Amino acid sequence: MTDQAVLQSVLDRAAAGGRITKEEALDLYRHAPLHALGQAADAVRRRRYAGTEHIATYIIERNINYTNVCVTACKFCAFYAAPKDTKKGWSRDLDDILRRCAETVELGGTQIMFQGGHHPDYGVEYYEHHFSAIKKDFPQLVIHSLGASEVEHMARISGVSAEEAIKRIHAAGLDSFAGAGAELLPERPRKAIAPLKESGERWLEIMEIAHKLGVESTSTMLMGTGETNAERIEHIAMIRDTQDRTGGFRAFIPYTYQPENNHLKGRTQATIFEYLRMIAIARLFLDNIAHIQGSWLTVGKEAGQLSLHYGADDLGSIMLEENVVSSAGAKHRSNRQEIIDLIRKAGRTPAQRATTYEHLLVHDDPANDPVDDRVVSHISSTAIEGGTAHPELKLISTN
Ligand code: SF4
Repeated sequence: MTDQAVLQSVLDRAAAGGRITKEEALDLYRHAPLHALGQAADAVRRRRYAGTEHIATYIIERNINYTNVCVTACKFCAFYAAPKDTKKGWSRDLDDILRRCAETVELGGTQIMFQGGHHPDYGVEYYEHHFSAIKKDFPQLVIHSLGASEVEHMARISGVSAEEAIKRIHAAGLDSFAGAGAELLPERPRKAIAPLKESGERWLEIMEIAHKLGVESTSTMLMGTGETNAERIEHIAMIRDTQDRTGGFRAFIPYTYQPENNHLKGRTQATIFEYLRMIAIARLFLDNIAHIQGSWLTVGKEAGQLSLHYGADDLGSIMLEENVVSSAGAKHRSNRQEIIDLIRKAGRTPAQRATTYEHLLVHDDPANDPVDDRVVSHISSTAIEGGTAHPELKLISTN
């Protein structure tokens, strides 16, 4: 039995800004009382954001799922279609993608997240073509998209190095990488759920190359596919080590596995308590990453709201369309006013942020809350099927 006094002294050190070891983080994750963990994490958050600690942020973005065709066949994924499965597989054309960008701008969105499968024909040229077209028509949109897995795939298709692929898509318009494809970085759980993906070490290596080229990113973790607590802590330790060298991760975003429609049926989904403990541990352990993001899409609004008391400073995006985690059973919906209210009820002042976390609009007076009846809240089933009809726009949230 771990001595609670020892745990408390580690918590006090972390809360005061001291670095904790991997072993200490695992001890805290396993044994520290939930409330004490939350208190320590919140103390770190308040100190880091002294002066604006009353604020919690969100962003408006559109997730553009450009294809579901994928050669990588991750076992947890309910979104992809194998290249031979022409009934299920679809790809969007550029006009469709540009129309979605136009709608994003019209609704006050500032960011797009290109997210899709590893299409066997999509090399660097595909992304160059699409990003430059988007930037030509919508220079105001930030392209925060893809991740190390997509870089590895497109570089292989085009026969170039990861470094060259990153330089070329950055020159074409990519602003920053989302943390896509991190899943679980340690070897055993990664191989169990995504055997065809690059290794966790390679994922980090590509992110390191990107950071050194000036392309920052976020980082993520998929919880609840059967990984151990030690593997969860190992995952964040691998991220912290890379961040010590590059400083290029802007945020860490854990989210929970959705168990429907995939090949991992029967695996345990992480509980809300495990999720909140991870948010808190991330705030305490990742002392070199500025933002810890709560994600209500997979854990629900109440848990998302609670995350703000466990070290999170951001609630992620109100997303104008999402089909990946929703394909796997994420059922939570929301809209801008709901997110604003949710943040207020957590005792914080909501603020819309930019991709780089500057506050764009602080909602400090409810009487001045933005009103936009066009902003509605549900997931696009037509998009899942590759349809193009979008009578309404969709607002939901994830990373
Ligand atoms: S998670 Fe991404 S890479 Fe893996 S199968 Fe799904 S679409 Fe493909």
